Amino acid sequence: MNGITIALSKGRIFEETLPLLAAAGIEPLENPETSRKLIIATNRADVRVVIVRATDAPTYVQYGAADIGVVGKDVLLEHGGDGLYQPLDLKIAKCRMMVAVPVGFDYENAVRQGARLKIATKYINIAREHFAAKGVHVDLIKLYGSMELAPLAGLADAIVDLVSTGSTLKANNLVAVEHIVDISSRLIVNQAALKLKRETLVPILDAIARVVEA
Ligand code: ATP
Ligand code: MG
Repeated sequence: MNGITIALSKGRIFEETLPLLAAAGIEPLENPETSRKLIIATNRADVRVVIVRATDAPTYVQYGAADIGVVGKDVLLEHGGDGLYQPLDLKIAKCRMMVAVPVGFDYENAVRQGARLKIATKYINIAREHFAAKGVHVDLIKLYGSMELAPLAGLADAIVDLVSTGSTLKANNLVAVEHIVDISSRLIVNQAALKLKRETLVPILDAIARVVEA
């Protein structure tokens, strides 16, 4: 394939990337929310979009099945950056990676006493690094959905999860006790594509970078 393939996930990343692509003169011809197509043509014959699960985007770009992609920093931190060119911060899909506990659980005291904490999360690597750096002993429990349920059901003492407004935590009687890292989405680029498709890619990357700065 000589053209450019862009990996995007449905939902907020697709929605928030649209204006950035538009600034580069790229308009997808279908909406993945209503279309079942996984490959979406654009107004440019040489550019297409592939719709991937958010956590799969780095894999598509790493192996060159997509030339560029948009992915949350959470996913990048968890996946690692192998084969990916230095990501550009798109400043979209902003949220924070936090530690949260049930209201009334004395997290500071548990940490001070050197308690061994059970942590439920989708982000095993991020959580492991965070608690190792603090010298807190943890058992990590991998979950794939609704981390908030884990402490309520007695599966874990605390969770590591993304928080934006905090309303999901509040609705489930949880409270954020520690900020791990700020999250936003990044534009990732396949290293080989950047060399081989430079003439097509660089104007797109530049147009996106300009509108992000503006
Ligand atoms: P699914 O929700 O379908 O299981 P997902 O959680 O991987 O999949 P999204 O919820 O669309 O997919 O999240 C995609 C990315 O958007 C995340 O990787 C993260 O970077 C960012 N994100 C997640 N939750 C929020 C939020 N509440 N506010 C802002 N950005 C968020
Ligand atoms: Mg989600």
